[in-house]
Amino acid sequence: MSKTLFEKIIDRELPATIVYEDELCVAFRDINPGAPTHILLVPRQPMVKLSDAEPSDQALLGHLMLTAPKIAAAEGYGDAFRLVVNNGAAAGQSVFHLHLHILAGRPMKWPPG
Ligand code: AMP
Repeated sequence: MSKTLFEKIIDRELPATIVYEDELCVAFRDINPGAPTHILLVPRQPMVKLSDAEPSDQALLGHLMLTAPKIAAAEGYGDAFRLVVNNGAAAGQSVFHLHLHILAGRPMKWPPG
């Protein structure tokens, strides 16, 4: 199977500004930021979308949720950030490799568009 865009970034085959990485995940700046800080947190292990997750993915998903606040804090926004997961094309997903959007640095409206 061909690599996803984000696998190519993880494998350094495409350029990106990587701000964090560990054995399970990689985080890099969104190319089209929707906020002063807009980072994508991506598991190294490709998963098309969140609704494909299995019970065996629980530790990985927990790791992503624990890592996102650390990345926001490192950006100076430990107390105010938004996490977004677009699940499926109709929900706005355009890259089919699970990712958390970490958005911060401006007031956030609710509900999101
Ligand atoms: P989504 O629409 O939830 O699938 O989010 C995909 C995100 O990937 C969008 O916010 C895009 O701006 C971002 N994106 C697409 N290509 C790249 C790239 N080469 N480097 C960084 N971010 C990208």
